[in-house]
Amino acid sequence: MVVFDLDNTLFKTPLFKQDIYKVFIAHGIDPEVFWKTFYLSYDIEPQSKGCYSLQKHFSILNVDSPIVKQEISSKVTENVYTRGREYLYVDVLPTILELKRRDEKVVLLTKGDKESQELKLDATHIREYFDEIKIVSDNKLPVLKELSQKNKVLVNINNHPDELRVCSSKIPQIICFLIKRSDYPIGDSTFSPSVENLSEIIDKLKHKT
Ligand SMILES: [Mg+2]
Repeated sequence: MVVFDLDNTLFKTPLFKQDIYKVFIAHGIDPEVFWKTFYLSYDIEPQSKGCYSLQKHFSILNVDSPIVKQEISSKVTENVYTRGREYLYVDVLPTILELKRRDEKVVLLTKGDKESQELKLDATHIREYFDEIKIVSDNKLPVLKELSQKNKVLVNINNHPDELRVCSSKIPQIICFLIKRSDYPIGDSTFSPSVENLSEIIDKLKHKT
């Protein structure tokens, strides 16, 4: 079984952020204010820390008008659907199809606001490629633990070194890989083993199963 993260692993999240940005700017929000409040809004609800949503962003920007909120939400949805499959990195579909051809189960495990994550999945038409889809708002570990109990070989692919480090230390039987995306630099923090293209996973799996 192969478990994929969504944002910056399969999905070009920087492009998604730019598409949201354009809609707010068109509604008169100052660019600097947009980005400052964008990142602040991730953490304003303790039960879903680290998850962005338009509703959280509206509240931190004091956008109260239901009409304006509706206009921005509709425009974001429209633009995201227009972009569609372009959000997926080029290696995503070929790799998943090859894994399925080899009878590997493929799971999507993502942390985020349910509505935002579902918009990403619907716009890219990627749901049908997964055997299971799990969206969590806080911690991925309970899901990973459950999956690893049911699967002898479990590979976990994520762009986030710290999440992988926690996974490796708490559930050492899971085989973790860092995916490095050039439009999403990782900075000082790193993790080994890493890949630069998802297709590299296929070869590595051959030696594990
Ligand atoms: Mg990610």
